[in-house]
Amino acid sequence: MDTALLINLAYIVSAILFVLGLKRLGSPATARSGNLMSATGMLIAVVVTLMEQAKLPWEYIITGMVLGGLIGASAARLVQMTSMPEMVALFNGFGGAASLLVGWTALYPAPGASGLLATVQGISTFTAITIVLSILIGGVTLTGSLIAYGKLSEKMSSAAIQFTGQQVVNAAIVLGILASAVMLVQNPGFDSPWFYAVLGLSLLFGIMVVIPIGGADMPVVIALLNSYSGLAACAAGFVLNNNLLIVSGSLVGASGIILTNIMCKAMNRSLSNVLFSGFGAAKKSTTKVEGEPKPITAEDAYYILEAAQRVCIVPGYGMAVAQAQHVVKELMDNLEANGCEVSFAIHPVAGRMPGHMNVLLAEANVPYDQLIEMDDINPQMSNMDVAIVIGANDVVNPAANEDEGSPLYGMPVINVNEARTVFVLKRSMKAGYAGVDNPLFVGENTRMLFGDAKESISTVVGEFSD
Ligand code: NDP
Repeated sequence: MDTALLINLAYIVSAILFVLGLKRLGSPATARSGNLMSATGMLIAVVVTLMEQAKLPWEYIITGMVLGGLIGASAARLVQMTSMPEMVALFNGFGGAASLLVGWTALYPAPGASGLLATVQGISTFTAITIVLSILIGGVTLTGSLIAYGKLSEKMSSAAIQFTGQQVVNAAIVLGILASAVMLVQNPGFDSPWFYAVLGLSLLFGIMVVIPIGGADMPVVIALLNSYSGLAACAAGFVLNNNLLIVSGSLVGASGIILTNIMCKAMNRSLSNVLFSGFGAAKKSTTKVEGEPKPITAEDAYYILEAAQRVCIVPGYGMAVAQAQHVVKELMDNLEANGCEVSFAIHPVAGRMPGHMNVLLAEANVPYDQLIEMDDINPQMSNMDVAIVIGANDVVNPAANEDEGSPLYGMPVINVNEARTVFVLKRSMKAGYAGVDNPLFVGENTRMLFGDAKESISTVVGEFSD
């Protein structure tokens, strides 16, 4: 069989594995096998592409693959679960950087070509456009993701950064990018000043689009940057004339946009509102939290839980920090053994990355059918004897429903305040990621169980076994 046909057949197999893998990622029950399928598809794609187009000696390629594989595997194993979101942001950035480099390389003349030192002649306008897009989107994704990484890892303030004339500066950058992109398409070359203009302005634009976004809006940005990294890869696919890269880039681009949409809906915001309103900078919280919190001990919490018939557990970022998911499962087992019905309420933006809580609870073998999404659990909340809030804050803030002065106003939240009793497990009265005070903590039916969530729950579990 001819080689080109074989290669295309292998690409089709890879593409099918990507699509099936994505489908299986839709449910926690099948996600692990979905991940494996997609990874297998990628391995086939890489090996086949290298067999077809290896331009370097094999020793270099194998060394690169082994080194890259080792770095990837150790990063995945060593990273703390709480640092996973910023690692995802960083990996998005690397995807953008790879596409940028592909575009950049394509601006060099083929080795051995004479008289073409400065310009790449003979490429079609279409290819030149894809090269420029690959550099442009790749550049924006790279620096945008680095800023997202800085904000998520708290290496820089997560607050929105805004200044007077910001929109004008951004508009000028966009115009600059458009003008230099048009010039570069007409005269492509690695040492063209227009190339440096496109490169520099795209890198700058990535920073400028992410700095004004802060507080609770970061989930949308992460999903959007993920989509950009796919679009950049898709453009790189056109540059390299590689069908599979076009397919996989489109899949990432489309799924990123779908996720962005889901995140926007979850926060009841439009995408333009998220991108341009500057959460936290534009709106200062006017929420006044009056009243004193009512602390409770783990022992007293146990007595109430022992008598409860229906309990809803609401996990948040603090459960990830405390690594409390396994003791939470033990608490669930004890409550169920005591005849209590237990459910978990999952907010779409709880934690620091999409699906964060689902991943943690799956790790602790909490059955998937007990994880109930916000819209389905809220109508049942008034029937709950106890809602146990474990390291969640913004996603249970009633000010989002009641207080027009709150920056969170309009974001749907889990209405734990409607349960008969609410336990809030956290270490202090500090605000959550959005930096907004939470009136839940001084609510009439709220009891604060202060301390590290894992320790508090372990004590309650200990009471069950005594
Ligand atoms: P929050 O960040 O609002 O609150 C987490 C709470 O956990 C804190 O108030 C903290 O209180 C508590 N906590 C921290 N460590 C511990 C510990 N060891 N034991 C007990 N409690 C602890 O989390 P939510 O999940 O409620 O909300 C997520 C927020 O993050 C939203 O604003 C969302 O928009 C944003 N975000 C979400 C992303 C996503 O994709 N899901 C991505 C980026 C941002 P204390 O310090 O007092 O213990």
